[in-house]
Amino acid sequence: MLDSEWARSWEYARCTVQLQDDSETGGAEALFDQALSNGLAAIVAKEWPGHEVRRDGKMKSANDLLDVIVSELPEVTPGVQALAFEDGEDEGTIQVATGLLRQAIGTTQPIRHARPSQGSRLQPIHVEALVALDDHPALRRLRDEHFDEYWKQETHNDRHAQVRAAWYVEQLRATREEWDRRRTDDYLDQFLPADPKDRYGGLGTASCPVCEQDALVVTRFDDFGAGVGAGTCCVCGYTRTEFMANDEAETRRMIGY
Ligand SMILES: [Zn+2]
Repeated sequence: MLDSEWARSWEYARCTVQLQDDSETGGAEALFDQALSNGLAAIVAKEWPGHEVRRDGKMKSANDLLDVIVSELPEVTPGVQALAFEDGEDEGTIQVATGLLRQAIGTTQPIRHARPSQGSRLQPIHVEALVALDDHPALRRLRDEHFDEYWKQETHNDRHAQVRAAWYVEQLRATREEWDRRRTDDYLDQFLPADPKDRYGGLGTASCPVCEQDALVVTRFDDFGAGVGAGTCCVCGYTRTEFMANDEAETRRMIGY
């Protein structure tokens, strides 16, 4: 993938994700235009190389890029063009709602440039038309972008869970008695299956990254076979989610640990 292609698809996805979360967010109109210009430029450059730029070498506007699509492709229903793509073995068709996308541009421009807007605003249906472009092989980054958002949220939550548990460990250590009690086999036993057969077949415990005790009662291992357990530590209460277990496994795989 060319650098410019990568950058356009990334810009498209970054802005579209925010609109999917909230199509009325502040600056939604600018986000929409940025996403659309980049998404269309990526598609046009891939399908009709060179047609994404004007004669003077500058990039075409979103409206001009829609003109290219309208002139090159058959209209399947009023305001909708079908784009059949082929990228190696990857074949398919996407519907480009050129009519709706033009309507959206007509809505965003007055707001962006402080002109009277006659009250029309960006609608969820416009965002849907924007999202539909992601099926084209030049884009296909929305899933990645969502993953990034999810990853940020999960790691943020995990950091908080670790800080909370670390604070709790500090309190426990201050009352030495409880700290000692929690580190005995008898204490751990309460959290493991009573039946020896179940216990043998169970997933056991793992070392807790917060209190460093072998007390994280595993409910599931990561999907990569790295042996990272998800579960809750019965000493400090820290819970490693399945997502974080997989993330840790991925990190270990990448650094060859
Ligand atoms: Zn712990």
